[in-house]
Amino acid sequence: MSTAWRIGVDSHRCIGTSICAGTAPEHFRLVDGLSTPLAEVVAPAEVILDAADSCPVEAITVRDATDDRLIAPEE
Ligand code: SF4
Repeated sequence: MSTAWRIGVDSHRCIGTSICAGTAPEHFRLVDGLSTPLAEVVAPAEVILDAADSCPVEAITVRDATDDRLIAPEE
């Protein structure tokens, strides 16, 4: 089990729907219309996967902070 995750938001993909910020406000907020993670490296939490899965353009990636393994979105 991962002990830390790294959250990334592709600013070229994000279309500013704010769904992620609505799903996980403790992890995402909109800055100038684009989603920005509040913290890049975080403790694993299901709500982060929910946010990544709910993004309509798959702009959010979640990786294991230790070995960079892709956790979300599922391939
Ligand atoms: S859900 Fe996706 S498109 Fe919408 S604000 Fe978040 S990252 Fe951007």
